[in-house]
Amino acid sequence: MREWARELGFSQIGVAGVDLSAAEPGLSQWLAQGFHGEMHYMAAHGLKRARPAELVPGTVSVITARMDYLPRDTGRNAPGGWQAQELSRLARPHEGIVSVYARGRDYHKVLRARLQKLSDRIAEAVGPFGHRVFTDSAPVLEAELAARSGQGWRGKHTLVLSRDAGSMFFLGEIYVDMALPESAPVTPHCGSCSACIDVCPTQAIIAPHRLDARRCISYLTIEHAGPIPLELRPLIGNRIYGCDDCQLICPWNKFAQVSRLPDFDERQGLSGQQLVHLFAWDEPTFLRMTEGGPIRRIGHERWLRNVAVALGNALRATGDEALRTALKARADDPSALVREHVAWALEC
Ligand code: SF4
Ligand code: SF4
Repeated sequence: MREWARELGFSQIGVAGVDLSAAEPGLSQWLAQGFHGEMHYMAAHGLKRARPAELVPGTVSVITARMDYLPRDTGRNAPGGWQAQELSRLARPHEGIVSVYARGRDYHKVLRARLQKLSDRIAEAVGPFGHRVFTDSAPVLEAELAARSGQGWRGKHTLVLSRDAGSMFFLGEIYVDMALPESAPVTPHCGSCSACIDVCPTQAIIAPHRLDARRCISYLTIEHAGPIPLELRPLIGNRIYGCDDCQLICPWNKFAQVSRLPDFDERQGLSGQQLVHLFAWDEPTFLRMTEGGPIRRIGHERWLRNVAVALGNALRATGDEALRTALKARADDPSALVREHVAWALEC
């Protein structure tokens, strides 16, 4: 199975059991504290998320799979490596930063198709079996399953960390009705490091292994639909889709692996772009530039909201009148959400 997985672009597979009861109290507490924000779908599935056999009846094992996504041309030759190259973008306020994972094809499509192919290969060998594939899917406790099946340990930023691959990878799962031998978990290696907690611009990591998603820039720029809380806007800087800071600072990510697939190569026009240029995209341009990629999911209105915040922060940092002019061009935007964020940005 490992060889088939490698052929399909996965770097590691593991097997977890379905008794995740030890994770239930933590999940319940996280939801009760409201840390999931508007991600109501997380609460909607309740403890089913920690009970694979309730979500997909008959499940007795979960195959987990890791797919590295660092784009093949990401800073391989940059001084200081790819992390330094990405961190340097933060010092260029006129530029919009799109999270590294979102610059290529939509990983949901890539992983789901390849997990299905892996299931088909297994079925060819052992005969038909009950299964269902998931990737980044709300009802699944993905990181918990990955950690249990030896993909890595939970870093203090809550993501799964691998000694061989850092955290720059996607995870997918195949729920199966076959009993498979479980993989051994690995020991944690964060030690006394707290770099991710210290670097987080919004202090969203409120304690080791505890993330308040409502403060996380990834959540605010992608999942959150309405106005971005005023007190957090200045902290977002020039990040317009997601945030990688806690991963960029993590020492284990010097071991991050370059993707073996071309799917996650950076598309033209998404990284290193001027905010003024991105703010001028009309909806057809937005749809064309993001076709087949994950950014398309947030829609043009949320895109403009995010870029307006970054423009306001750039205006505050530089006083550049060209930024003000770009913002004024959308002062009467048909969207009230965009208008309000433009007005905020112009006050900067
Ligand atoms: S993604 Fe950014 S905002 Fe969210 S926890 Fe990490 S550093 Fe903080
Ligand atoms: S930055 Fe440090 S504490 Fe945070 S996940 Fe990486 S090793 Fe762990």
